Amino acid sequence: MWKCIDEMVQLHGGYGYMLEYPIARAFVDMRVTRIFGGTSEVLRELIARKL
Ligand SMILES: Cc1cc2nc3c(=O)[nH]c(=O)nc-3n(C[C@H](O)[C@H](O)[C@H](O)COP(=O)(O)OP(=O)(O)OC[C@H]3O[C@@H](n4cnc5c(N)ncnc54)[C@H](O)[C@@H]3O)c2cc1C
Repeated sequence: MWKCIDEMVQLHGGYGYMLEYPIARAFVDMRVTRIFGGTSEVLRELIARKL
């Protein structure tokens, strides 16, 4: 997902970085998946505790 959206921003150039455009919004929305519902670091700790 990260690789895909990163390439999409690159493809759109400066427009891909402007918050007025849906591609930038998609970039921001994708990034939060590593934060909400528990950060990746905290989730890794939980998994490690279970193992
Ligand atoms: C868009 C959005 C929607 C959300 N929706 C909800 C929702 O519907 N319901 C809800 O309950 N919450 C929701 N949240 C809150 C979300 O669960 C928290 O933002 C998330 O758990 C991270 O907590 P924090 O923001 O306090 O960051 P912190 O816990 O302060 O984390 C900051 C940094 O410290 C690191 N860190 C913290 N503790 C440890 C540790 N023990 N070991 C290693 N690293 C650590 C983190 O990995 C991170 O890099 C939402 C957040 C966002 C951004």
